[in-house]
Amino acid sequence: MNSFPSLLESIDDLSKIQIEELLTLSTHFLHNKPTPGPPNYLQPVIATSFLENSTRTKHSFAIAIQRLGSIYIDFNAETSSLKKGESLEETFLTLYNQGVDLCIFRSSVSNQLAKFKKSPPIKIINGGDGTNEHPTQALLDLFTLLEFSKELHGKTIAIFGDIIHSRVTHSLLKLLPHFGLKIILCGPKYFMPEFSTISKDIKVTQNRDEAIMASDFLYLLRIQQERHSENQFQNTHSNDYHHDYGIKLSHLKHLNKLIPIFHPGPANIGIELDHELIKSSLYQGYNQVKNSVPVRMAIIKSMLSNNDKNIGIINGEKF
Ligand code: ASP
Repeated sequence: MNSFPSLLESIDDLSKIQIEELLTLSTHFLHNKPTPGPPNYLQPVIATSFLENSTRTKHSFAIAIQRLGSIYIDFNAETSSLKKGESLEETFLTLYNQGVDLCIFRSSVSNQLAKFKKSPPIKIINGGDGTNEHPTQALLDLFTLLEFSKELHGKTIAIFGDIIHSRVTHSLLKLLPHFGLKIILCGPKYFMPEFSTISKDIKVTQNRDEAIMASDFLYLLRIQQERHSENQFQNTHSNDYHHDYGIKLSHLKHLNKLIPIFHPGPANIGIELDHELIKSSLYQGYNQVKNSVPVRMAIIKSMLSNNDKNIGIINGEKF
């Protein structure tokens, strides 16, 4: 088996066996919280470098890093030399040469990490890049889904909303079919990908009730205005969206479909769901957050242990 990658940019970077090993290690960390000793100079140093806002991802990584006993550095990209025109590669190499072992990177720009696939300047975990992917969110979502049903084969999840701008969905579309989960994408046409880009196991519908009735789980997305190329969906559509695609507890009761509701957060009450639903026991957003720490601990631990000697290479040479 290939060793764990030094750059986790996409779900495609992981084999199914590696994903299963991550799930097992995540379960271990969920039930056994390590108690790190006092700091010492041998501990790995891990940095978060977030060029875009975050509440959940950054803090759960920060907690995961410290629970593993690593030294945590919050690299403030806004006040760094990236703002003085330094390239991303130079910045990563600088961190590496200062002794940082791994960097968790988030950016509003898609696909910035792809160029480092062959020779990563430092070990990197993608914490969400533009509209491209958010692999660690998808992995913790899978972990949470498996808490409901050990066997996902033959089950269906409907993902609602702003699909084309959702990096989480792009990772879920790659991850969930590995575990036999069928996917329905539901929302207004302008949020749906082109049919040609969707595999035959993924259905698309504009009909909310059809999607709900065919599903075992619902996954709701925020309308991600900051990722739209223009503000064409701002204000104009949020009321209509709530009316046509928002999920309400009373409506689920009416359909007799009281099924688990997932959301990667941040959730916008009154748009993709209502207040009653987020306060109900169907809502899994906080379980996802709870599971984010052990899953991210498992990812960090697996990457740190891969023994890759080809990190930090400059122009084909290691200095
Ligand atoms: N937190 C998720 C992300 O970073 C979802 C969202 O922003 O709506 O992509």
